[in-house]
Amino acid sequence: MLIRGQCHCGNIAFTLSWEPSPTEIQARACSCSFCTKHGGVWTSNPRGSLEVTVKDPALVSKYAHGTRTADFHVCARCGVVPVVTSRLDGRLYAVVSVNAFDGVDPSLLRRESRDFDGEGKDDRLARRKRNWIPEVRFIEGGA
Ligand SMILES: [Zn+2]
Repeated sequence: MLIRGQCHCGNIAFTLSWEPSPTEIQARACSCSFCTKHGGVWTSNPRGSLEVTVKDPALVSKYAHGTRTADFHVCARCGVVPVVTSRLDGRLYAVVSVNAFDGVDPSLLRRESRDFDGEGKDDRLARRKRNWIPEVRFIEGGA
């Protein structure tokens, strides 16, 4: 299954390859202070691969907070946050926002809330390596 999503104005778009096709997609409402404010709900597949196309990189604001180990890619034009990345041991990992999905049957989404506030930094990075999308490619200036 190819899951497509983008920010509201289309500057940041992604295609997530998810094989075999999911019978359900975890949708994790993150309770960190930033995600609480913008309503971040994330998913990832540790066997998936992600392609992110950015039309105008100058219109992407990368925001980091807390442990500063993850970058939220905020569209500076429309304000949507379609993707978060984290570089771990030289590899780029990512999660994508289920709110940015286009054309995905909402009944596939299994919504849950997660509270990672008590998690230590080492545990957090290890969890990302286990759960986040491990194949991430950015294409900048793409149509
Ligand atoms: Zn946008």
